[in-house]
Amino acid sequence: MPDRPTPSYEVYALRYATAPERKSQDNFIFPDIHDAPMPLDFYIWAIRGQGRTIVLDTGFSEAAAKRRQRVFLRSPGAALDAIGIDAAAVQDVVISHLHYDHAGNMDLFPRATFHLQDAEMAYSTGRCMCHAVLRRPMEVEDVLTAVRHVYADRVRFHDGTGEIAPDVTVHLVGGHSGGLQVVRVPTARGWVVLANDATHFWANIRNRSPFPLVADVGRMLEGFRIVEELADGPDHIIPGHDPLVLTRFPAVKGQPEIVRLDAPPTG
Ligand SMILES: [Zn+2]
Ligand SMILES: [Zn+2]
Repeated sequence: MPDRPTPSYEVYALRYATAPERKSQDNFIFPDIHDAPMPLDFYIWAIRGQGRTIVLDTGFSEAAAKRRQRVFLRSPGAALDAIGIDAAAVQDVVISHLHYDHAGNMDLFPRATFHLQDAEMAYSTGRCMCHAVLRRPMEVEDVLTAVRHVYADRVRFHDGTGEIAPDVTVHLVGGHSGGLQVVRVPTARGWVVLANDATHFWANIRNRSPFPLVADVGRMLEGFRIVEELADGPDHIIPGHDPLVLTRFPAVKGQPEIVRLDAPPTG
């Protein structure tokens, strides 16, 4: 192994939308019979350090929020601006997967290279999209935008594990979609994994109970194991849609919708 110190990065979760009416039976493949309110939040994530800025996912637009009846809190671009990140200058954007809530605003990043798994592009342009249930969380315009970026030399494909910046790596998990990837980041508190839709809530991974929107249940269950192996512990796994992320981690001063994930949880 090279004798190089592990760098550490700042990591942020930025909430941009919410679905407050959701019930717990909507969030588990085998729901509890005692149903209860269980809202779902929408985030993008940012990683900063070593002179680099990396954004994970681009969120959806206000128009998409209206179509899908989500409560839009602010544009993901405005959220990044609030922590001093100019979307127009960002050079690396990881797209975890091509669902509408993760890949909807690529145009906000005109200088970026988009990091995507081979398997996700094949999934979102191939035979799985002949099935309405798997197509439902996609916006065809987002997929077309991704294809255009391939033709404009702006996509860097990964096949499994890849490095985005020193010790910041992507890992193929799949399951929820054909080629979903998670991001592992070294921080001052250890290895954090931005799991996004590999586990929507902490309860999905803790109870080994997948979210019902899933392309391959077996791979999703294997994904729980992969994510656990990559992270330093349960609090180092950041779920993709859990409102608890905002309450458990310290907020950036004056920004209650943005929390620091490289800091230890407060609750
Ligand atoms: Zn998804
Ligand atoms: Zn999602």
